Amino acid sequence: MNLYEKSLNLEQHLSNSTLALPDHIVSQNSKTGQSFRSLLRFCSHRTHLCSQRCYACRGPISWAASVSKAIAVRRWIEQNGIEVSAKRMATEIYYGGIFRWMDRGDFDPLTVLLANRVVELRPDVSYCAFSRNLDALKSLNPKINKVYSVDNRSLGTIHQVPNSIKIAFMKTDTCTPIPKVVKIVFPINHRKNLLGSSIDCSFFKDKRVKCAGCRRCY
Ligand code: SF4
Repeated sequence: MNLYEKSLNLEQHLSNSTLALPDHIVSQNSKTGQSFRSLLRFCSHRTHLCSQRCYACRGPISWAASVSKAIAVRRWIEQNGIEVSAKRMATEIYYGGIFRWMDRGDFDPLTVLLANRVVELRPDVSYCAFSRNLDALKSLNPKINKVYSVDNRSLGTIHQVPNSIKIAFMKTDTCTPIPKVVKIVFPINHRKNLLGSSIDCSFFKDKRVKCAGCRRCY
């Protein structure tokens, strides 16, 4: 069983529980700032590699308390609908950084509609969205900075990516050349250590962080 399957099992187990209503729809953590947390069951475009190394399947974000909150949020949205949920999110978001769509899991049709409505209600906020679902990214409001994540199992899809969407590459070996169109690189191995040269790493390159303290890769 890979990392994704283990985490999905926990998510499915918790989905059968009675959960408290969510205090907030918007999530907050020190790594991403304000964000939206989805569910792993919507990772319809995951690859074998990302399932083995998923950043969202280890650490505090994968623990039962965090997953329960994400499930409770999803239930609340399904019960209250897009308009009510988007209005609630619009009041919870404060401007001060970049709001990230999907710090865990991926988009499904409901969360695409939600994201687009939140952008309409809060056009003053900067948004980014990370996804492996290219169709979902193409359906998002142009105001959202979109990043399509690939690895060498899904590199063949990058010719379908419009210029408006950045490509992030999860580098898991030292022999696959990184295509020029790739804008963000996460060079990692399964222990979260840098793989190959750190000059490949987008976050290392920006010089604001050192590997030991960064933890922004998987
Ligand atoms: S699609 Fe993203 S959240 Fe889902 S398994 Fe892959 S890396 Fe993890």
